[in-house]
Amino acid sequence: RGSSLTDFADKIGVDAASLVQMLFHLGEMVTATQSVGDETLELLGDELNYVVEVVSPEDEDRELLESFDIEFGADEGNEDDLVIRPPVVTVMGHVDHGKTKLLDALRGANVVAGEAGGITQHIGAYQVHTDVDGEDRRITFIDTPGHEAFTAMRARGSQSSDIAILVVAADDGVMPQTVEALNHAKAAGVPIVVAVNKIDKPEADPTKVRGQLTEYGLVPEEYGGDAMFVDVSAKSGINLDKLLEAVVLTADASLDLRANPGQDAQGLVVEAHLDRGRGPVATILVQRGTLRVGDSIVAGPAHGRVRAMLDEHGVEMAEADPGRPAMVLGLSSVPGAGQNFIVVEDDRMARQIAEKREARERAALQAKRRVRRTLEDFMASMEKGESQELNLILKGDVSGSVEALEDALAALEVGEEVSLRVIDRGVGAITEANVNLAAASDAIIIGFNVRAQGKAAELADREGVEIKYYSVIYQAIEEIEAALKGMLKPEY
Ligand code: GDP
Repeated sequence: RGSSLTDFADKIGVDAASLVQMLFHLGEMVTATQSVGDETLELLGDELNYVVEVVSPEDEDRELLESFDIEFGADEGNEDDLVIRPPVVTVMGHVDHGKTKLLDALRGANVVAGEAGGITQHIGAYQVHTDVDGEDRRITFIDTPGHEAFTAMRARGSQSSDIAILVVAADDGVMPQTVEALNHAKAAGVPIVVAVNKIDKPEADPTKVRGQLTEYGLVPEEYGGDAMFVDVSAKSGINLDKLLEAVVLTADASLDLRANPGQDAQGLVVEAHLDRGRGPVATILVQRGTLRVGDSIVAGPAHGRVRAMLDEHGVEMAEADPGRPAMVLGLSSVPGAGQNFIVVEDDRMARQIAEKREARERAALQAKRRVRRTLEDFMASMEKGESQELNLILKGDVSGSVEALEDALAALEVGEEVSLRVIDRGVGAITEANVNLAAASDAIIIGFNVRAQGKAAELADREGVEIKYYSVIYQAIEEIEAALKGMLKPEY
């Protein structure tokens, strides 16, 4: 799990240099500070007669919880105890296609007359009601446009949403981020409902959008496929009810969304921040069980007792059932988006689990800082014959410059031993999603005439992801080429 040979040597109480030597004889060229893969660790284990078990952070957390007799995602209990829960939906799509507008429109249109509070606030998630075949059905929306939330949660191995609404502007058609979003949802095995947006515009061409997405394997029902397409206007409020209905029908057709409200609550943190007056405030999504005021909970490395819960209208709630988002007050610190929360027996247990998690997060962060690479590191390590793969994410101001950069990189002669991979590309500012991807794949981000969005820069800093900025293509190429040349392994 990205640990270095030195870390491993420390763990098993041997000298790192001897491990380097041993690996050399086994045909692997590795230095002591380099991060090594699971296979290499297992290989060493065999050689040393150690049983090496590679434990993922998720497994590690599962073990921690098990030691307290807790299972995250535990059995839902008897069939009879299960009730239908609302689907949880994320809205994805290309920039400017109307994700924010759609989320606002759905949030605003659904304020039930006379409901206390009235004005809906942004808390990161909200629930709406819709009438389907005379039945009142609920849908939960993750209120974070783009796929930042999706990526952050997936990076943590947690499944946040049941259904994705893919927004495509009918006057613009399928664009790069449409395809990217589509691939994200497919990879997560999440059914897609397409909202063909901006149909109020005279130049809207919803038929073209259907044709384009069919080419990507997302075939509309009316063409014999299994994806529901709904023409909407987030601006004029056209067909929003039809879109909600399509979500419910898709959920009923392809998912079995039921949960047992009778057990201790578990779920995910959607977003969290420090409020000056109220202290740490976290919006959580209850995935199973029922969360109640007074419950002792752990959320990531934070713990506490639920002091109060508020819904998206700012109204206090005594309990939150499966599929319900709620703003929770009373935590000791601010947990991260995508981390899980669980209700435990008492405050003491909550604190113990939280302390263990916090210690582990700190250790993992330090390890990450040590192994993450910068372009300069690449050059330095090249001379030693270490790095063999350079992952890049390209972001530019216009698609032409991104393509030019990628073409020029593809044309670089780098030999067989080193490889350069462009793992993602796009137009626009560097986003948190880009940084998350870079962190997950040890990539460097190249910004061509674009900068990192506010929070993305902070995240990159925290995760130790390098962002290089250029405004001249050949300069970018020169530096990358130099790094790659330096990466070539010397011959032994
Ligand atoms: P996002 O980047 O996907 O979140 O897109 P936004 O929601 O910020 O919308 C981008 C622009 O398109 C804004 O100027 C919106 O007012 C506009 N817009 C969004 N939905 C519609 C729509 O249904 N009709 C029209 N005419 N404009 C829309």
